[in-house]
Amino acid sequence: MAKLSVYENVIAQFNNAADLMNLDPEIRRILACTTNEIIVHFPVKMDDGHIQIFTGYRVQHNNVLGPYKGGLRFHPSVDIDEVRALATWMTWKSAIAGIPYGGAKGGIQIDPRQYSRSELERITRRFTFALGSNIGPEYDIPAPDVNTNSQIMAWILDTYLSMMPPLERNRCVHVVTGKPIESGGSLGRDKATGQGVVFVLELWAKDHNFDLSHATYMVQGFGNVGSWTARLLKPYGATLLAVEDHTGAIVNPAGIDADALTEYVQAHGGLSGYPGGTPVDHRTFMSVEADIFVPAALENQITAETASWLNVKLVVEGANGPTNIEGDKVLQERGIGLLPDVLCNAGGVIVSYFEWLQNKRSEFWDLEEVDAKLHKLMISAYRHVYEAVHKFNTDWRTAAYVVALNRLEKVYRERGIFP
Ligand code: NAD
Repeated sequence: MAKLSVYENVIAQFNNAADLMNLDPEIRRILACTTNEIIVHFPVKMDDGHIQIFTGYRVQHNNVLGPYKGGLRFHPSVDIDEVRALATWMTWKSAIAGIPYGGAKGGIQIDPRQYSRSELERITRRFTFALGSNIGPEYDIPAPDVNTNSQIMAWILDTYLSMMPPLERNRCVHVVTGKPIESGGSLGRDKATGQGVVFVLELWAKDHNFDLSHATYMVQGFGNVGSWTARLLKPYGATLLAVEDHTGAIVNPAGIDADALTEYVQAHGGLSGYPGGTPVDHRTFMSVEADIFVPAALENQITAETASWLNVKLVVEGANGPTNIEGDKVLQERGIGLLPDVLCNAGGVIVSYFEWLQNKRSEFWDLEEVDAKLHKLMISAYRHVYEAVHKFNTDWRTAAYVVALNRLEKVYRERGIFP
C-alpha cells in the first residue's frame, strides 16, 4: 500500500469514526474537506540586503462551532498537505474540548534557525501583512506551534494592529493568542498544553489503577509541549528515562531531571551535549523500556515499523499526528494503549480560548483561575471520550473523533445548509 500523506491519514481516522457512528453522509462530505486554503508568496529583505521570497499557508477547515483557530508553524516540512491535516485536527480538538472554535492552521516553509532574529521578525510581519483580513479576532485566530513562540505572536499582533484604523486597534488584541503576558497574554498559556497532557494522564491513571509515582516514561521533542509535560510530571514522582529532540537522543536509567534539561536546551538550542544522559541513536531511543511514551515533536513518528520497536504500555500523544494509521494498528495488535492528540493536547487551545476571553472582556485572570478552568474542561473532554470508548467499544482515537463528529453533526442538523 502506498504511504498515506498526513492529510490522507486524518481522513482515514475520520472515516473509521464516521463509519462506526453512522455519520450523516452529507455532513460527512462537508467535514471531509477544508473550507478555505490560502497560500501566499511574499518578499522579505534579508540582513545582507538581498530579497528572498517565502511561501506561507493558512488553511481554514471548518468554522461551524466558532471562529477558525489554530497555530502557525515555521518548519521546512510545512506544505499544503500538512497544514490541511493540522487544520482538520483543530476542528475535532475544539469540538472535543467543548469550546466555541473551529479549526485552522498555518505556517511558513522555513527552517527558522537559518535566519537572524531581525530577519525572522520581518518574515513574520510580511506574512501577517500578506494574510491581511484572512485572519481577525472574531474570524481566524493564530497561536504558537512548532518553532513559533510568544515573541512571534507579539510581532503578528503589532503588525495586525498597525493595519487597523486607530479606533479599532484596542478592540483587536485577541487576533492572536499565546502572546507575552505584558502584550495581553494569559498566565498559564506557556505550560497549558503540557498541563493538559498531564491532566489526561492523571485521569487515565486513576481509572486504570496505574501508579504514576512509580511510572517510567520517555519524551520525544523537548520544546514547549515536551518540556512542560516532563516538568509537570516531576512532582508525581514519575521517572524520565529518555528524551529525543532534533539534535539527538539521550537515556539515563537513573532518571533525567526535566528542569535541568529544560535550562540546558534553552541555553544550547537542543539537548545534544547534555551531561546528564548517555547519547543513543533513534532506534535505541524508540526501544527504551518504559511505561509511557509521550511523542511531542512532529507527525508520523509511530509507524508500522517504529511501533514494533516500542517497549511501552501507553502512548500519550502530546504532538499532533505522531501516530499514523498503520502505527495505530500495530500498537493495537501489541496491546499498547493510546491516548490521542485531539484529547491530550487540547490544553493549548483551551487556554488560548481563556486568553481570548480575557482580552475581549479586558480582564486578567490569576493562574489558579486559569488552571482550575483548564482542569474542568479537560475532565469533561476526557469523560466524554471515555464514555464513547465504552459505548462504541472502540479505541480512544476513534472514540475522540466520535465525540467531535457528534457535536458537529448536531450543529449542522440544527442550522441546515444555506440557502
Ligand atoms: P516546539 O517547537 O516548541 O518543539 C518541538 C520539539 O520537537 C523540539 O524539541 C524539537 O527539537 C523537536 N523535534 C523536531 N524535529 C524532531 C525530530 N525529527 N525528532 C525528534 N525531535 C524533533 O513545538 P511545540 O509547540 O512543543 O509542538 C510540538 C508538537 O505539539 C507539535 O506537533 C505541535 O503541533 C503540538 N502542539 C503544540 C501546542 C502548543 O501549544 N505549542 C498545542 C497543541 C499541540
